[in-house]
Amino acid sequence: MSRYDPDCIFCKIAAGHIPANLIYKNDHVAAFHDLNPVAPVHILIIPLEHISSLSELTDSDSEIAGQILLTARVVAEKMGVLGSGYRLVFNNGADALQSVGHIHAHLIGGKTMGWPPF
Ligand code: 5GP
Ligand code: ZN
Repeated sequence: MSRYDPDCIFCKIAAGHIPANLIYKNDHVAAFHDLNPVAPVHILIIPLEHISSLSELTDSDSEIAGQILLTARVVAEKMGVLGSGYRLVFNNGADALQSVGHIHAHLIGGKTMGWPPF
Protein backbone atom coordinates (compact mmCIF):
# COMPACT_ATOMS: atom_id res chain seq x y z
CA MET A 1 0.00 0.00 0.00
CA SER A 2 1.46 3.32 -0.97
CA ARG A 3 0.06 5.47 1.82
CA TYR A 4 -0.03 4.21 5.43
CA ASP A 5 0.04 6.41 8.53
CA PRO A 6 1.15 4.36 11.55
CA ASP A 7 -0.62 6.83 13.87
CA CYS A 8 -3.97 6.53 12.07
CA ILE A 9 -6.66 4.31 13.57
CA PHE A 10 -8.37 3.75 10.21
CA CYS A 11 -5.09 2.81 8.51
CA LYS A 12 -4.67 0.17 11.22
CA ILE A 13 -8.21 -1.11 10.63
CA ALA A 14 -7.65 -1.14 6.85
CA ALA A 15 -4.45 -3.15 7.29
CA GLY A 16 -6.07 -5.56 9.75
CA HIS A 17 -3.70 -4.47 12.53
CA ILE A 18 -6.58 -3.73 14.87
CA PRO A 19 -9.99 -5.38 14.78
CA ALA A 20 -13.18 -3.93 13.36
CA ASN A 21 -16.59 -5.38 12.57
CA LEU A 22 -15.84 -5.52 8.84
CA ILE A 23 -18.71 -6.04 6.42
CA TYR A 24 -16.97 -5.43 3.07
CA LYS A 25 -13.45 -5.05 1.67
CA ASN A 26 -11.95 -4.94 -1.79
CA ASP A 27 -8.63 -3.71 -3.23
CA HIS A 28 -9.53 -0.06 -2.65
CA VAL A 29 -11.95 0.31 0.26
CA ALA A 30 -13.19 -1.27 3.46
CA ALA A 31 -16.52 -0.91 5.26
CA PHE A 32 -17.13 -1.63 8.93
CA HIS A 33 -19.55 -0.83 11.75
CA ASP A 34 -19.02 2.48 13.55
CA LEU A 35 -17.92 1.99 17.16
CA ASN A 36 -20.59 4.44 18.38
CA PRO A 37 -23.56 4.11 16.02
CA VAL A 38 -25.97 7.03 15.80
CA ALA A 39 -28.67 5.02 13.99
CA PRO A 40 -29.71 1.36 13.59
CA VAL A 41 -27.42 1.22 10.53
CA HIS A 42 -24.15 3.14 10.82
CA ILE A 43 -21.30 1.93 8.64
CA LEU A 44 -18.02 3.66 7.82
CA ILE A 45 -16.57 3.33 4.32
CA ILE A 46 -12.88 4.17 4.05
CA PRO A 47 -10.16 4.03 1.40
CA LEU A 48 -7.45 1.50 2.29
CA GLU A 49 -4.84 4.17 1.63
CA HIS A 50 -4.37 7.06 4.01
CA ILE A 51 -5.91 10.24 2.63
CA SER A 52 -6.63 12.67 5.43
CA SER A 53 -9.71 14.42 4.06
CA LEU A 54 -11.75 15.04 0.94
CA SER A 55 -9.72 18.22 0.50
CA GLU A 56 -6.61 16.12 -0.10
CA LEU A 57 -8.08 14.10 -2.97
CA THR A 58 -6.34 14.57 -6.31
CA ASP A 59 -7.13 13.52 -9.87
CA SER A 60 -5.02 10.38 -9.34
CA ASP A 61 -7.46 9.30 -6.61
CA SER A 62 -10.46 9.17 -8.93
CA GLU A 63 -10.76 5.39 -8.72
CA ILE A 64 -10.70 5.46 -4.92
CA ALA A 65 -13.27 8.27 -4.85
CA GLY A 66 -15.55 6.32 -7.16
CA GLN A 67 -15.09 3.14 -5.16
CA ILE A 68 -16.27 4.86 -1.97
CA LEU A 69 -19.54 5.88 -3.64
CA LEU A 70 -20.06 2.55 -5.39
CA THR A 71 -19.41 0.72 -2.12
CA ALA A 72 -22.21 2.70 -0.50
CA ARG A 73 -24.72 0.86 -2.66
CA VAL A 74 -23.17 -2.52 -1.82
CA VAL A 75 -23.22 -1.71 1.89
CA ALA A 76 -26.79 -0.39 1.74
CA GLU A 77 -27.91 -3.63 0.12
CA LYS A 78 -26.03 -5.77 2.66
CA MET A 79 -27.55 -3.79 5.54
CA GLY A 80 -31.07 -3.97 4.11
CA VAL A 81 -31.60 -0.24 3.55
CA LEU A 82 -31.25 -0.04 -0.23
CA GLY A 83 -35.00 0.30 -0.60
CA SER A 84 -35.85 2.26 2.55
CA GLY A 85 -33.17 4.91 2.09
CA TYR A 86 -29.95 5.97 3.71
CA ARG A 87 -27.68 8.96 4.08
CA LEU A 88 -24.00 9.35 3.20
CA VAL A 89 -22.13 11.89 5.32
CA PHE A 90 -18.54 13.05 4.92
CA ASN A 91 -17.47 15.22 7.84
CA ASN A 92 -14.63 17.24 6.35
CA GLY A 93 -12.45 19.51 8.46
CA ALA A 94 -12.89 21.33 11.74
CA ASP A 95 -16.28 23.02 11.22
CA ALA A 96 -17.77 19.68 10.22
CA LEU A 97 -16.29 18.06 13.37
CA GLN A 98 -14.17 15.54 11.47
CA SER A 99 -12.50 13.62 14.30
CA VAL A 100 -10.55 10.95 12.39
CA GLY A 101 -8.13 12.29 9.78
CA HIS A 102 -8.62 9.52 7.24
CA ILE A 103 -11.44 9.92 4.69
CA HIS A 104 -14.57 8.09 5.73
CA ALA A 105 -18.15 8.12 4.56
CA HIS A 106 -20.77 7.51 7.24
CA LEU A 107 -23.59 5.40 5.78
CA ILE A 108 -26.53 5.97 8.10
CA GLY A 109 -29.98 4.44 7.88
CA GLY A 110 -32.63 2.24 9.43
CA LYS A 111 -34.70 5.18 10.65
CA THR A 112 -36.38 8.29 9.30
CA MET A 113 -33.94 11.18 9.66
CA GLY A 114 -34.30 14.92 9.98
CA TRP A 115 -32.99 17.70 7.79
CA PRO A 116 -31.01 19.94 8.14
CA PRO A 117 -28.57 17.87 10.21
CA PHE A 118 -27.63 20.63 12.71
P1 5GP B 1 -15.95 11.76 12.20
O1 5GP B 1 -16.40 12.51 13.43
O2 5GP B 1 -14.46 11.89 11.98
O3 5GP B 1 -16.74 12.08 10.99
O4 5GP B 1 -16.28 10.24 12.48
C1 5GP B 1 -15.40 9.33 13.04
C2 5GP B 1 -16.20 8.12 13.40
O5 5GP B 1 -15.30 7.06 13.66
C3 5GP B 1 -17.07 8.30 14.67
O6 5GP B 1 -18.43 8.06 14.34
C4 5GP B 1 -16.51 7.26 15.63
O7 5GP B 1 -17.52 6.63 16.39
C5 5GP B 1 -15.80 6.28 14.71
N1 5GP B 1 -14.64 5.62 15.27
C6 5GP B 1 -13.59 6.22 15.91
N2 5GP B 1 -12.68 5.31 16.26
C7 5GP B 1 -13.15 4.11 15.84
C8 5GP B 1 -12.64 2.78 15.90
O8 5GP B 1 -11.56 2.51 16.43
N3 5GP B 1 -13.41 1.79 15.35
C9 5GP B 1 -14.61 2.06 14.76
N4 5GP B 1 -15.27 1.02 14.26
N5 5GP B 1 -15.11 3.29 14.67
C10 5GP B 1 -14.39 4.31 15.21
ZN1 ZN C 1 -5.19 6.56 7.76
